[in-house]
Amino acid sequence: MEQSDLSANTVIDHPRALSDKRTLIRDAGPSKFQVIADFDATLTRYRVNGRRGLTSHGLLQQGNTDYDAKRDALYEHYRPLEISPLIPIEEKSKLMEEWWSKTHDLLIEGGLTYDAIKKSVENSSIAFREGVIELFEFLEKKEIPVLIFSAGLADVIEEILRQNLRRTFKNVKIVSNRMVFDDDGRLVSFKGKLIHVLNKNEHALDMAAPLHDQLGGEICEEVEEYAYVKQRTNVLLLGDHLGDLRMSDGLSYETRISIGFLNDNIEKSLESYRKAFDLVYLNDAPMWGALELVSQLFSTEAN
Ligand SMILES: [Mg+2]
Repeated sequence: MEQSDLSANTVIDHPRALSDKRTLIRDAGPSKFQVIADFDATLTRYRVNGRRGLTSHGLLQQGNTDYDAKRDALYEHYRPLEISPLIPIEEKSKLMEEWWSKTHDLLIEGGLTYDAIKKSVENSSIAFREGVIELFEFLEKKEIPVLIFSAGLADVIEEILRQNLRRTFKNVKIVSNRMVFDDDGRLVSFKGKLIHVLNKNEHALDMAAPLHDQLGGEICEEVEEYAYVKQRTNVLLLGDHLGDLRMSDGLSYETRISIGFLNDNIEKSLESYRKAFDLVYLNDAPMWGALELVSQLFSTEAN
């Protein structure tokens, strides 16, 4: 997408407030800064070749058609409840927990293997927004951490990163539902608390704390890392749902710039998005705007 197209797809409700935030973040420097990003339809594109791109949950074929069908049936039942404006949030949150835990149980019962994850990712239509790699590279160079915070599946997201970005980033951490495999590569359980689409805020504090109960000697390192991330009180938040704004709840941040990707239902949702996010990108825009923003924030810093 050309630069001119991007500006046509950019909505900033309060340019002055945004510019003030940029000044504060720039003055505090990169050592005070971190990025918290949602995964599905934020880092990845909402549409791929004109069709709805898949999510980390949606792409998974567990190599057992009965169980794939059972998970599809759950989707058909719960998805309308998820997007219903009529169900109070508490009730909806319970329903989402029900949906997620049933899905996780089916993945275990149906004998999901790591191989099936690899194959599912190979066969899937999932694609990152243009500019995501460049954004990660810039942040890595500046030693700025990126937390990918997702209600999807950590192991699937990691495989998607591996296959699509073709390199790993030492500054990128994933906080999501994490699987435990046995020696034969078969899923036996999930680690830690379940993260569903409506409880990201409850998990915000756990973000970099012992990441989903890592074991043994890793704990010290994780706790150190937690302290390190907690000290980074300036945040760039990337999301495609209003609920994604809650990802930074656990952090007593000083300054936060939020970017919202509004991919669908633009007419209906623009009003609420432009109020909630500092910057809104429309129509499945690329990541160039976020890259430009962080480049401007820290351009004068030595590499
Ligand atoms: Mg999303």
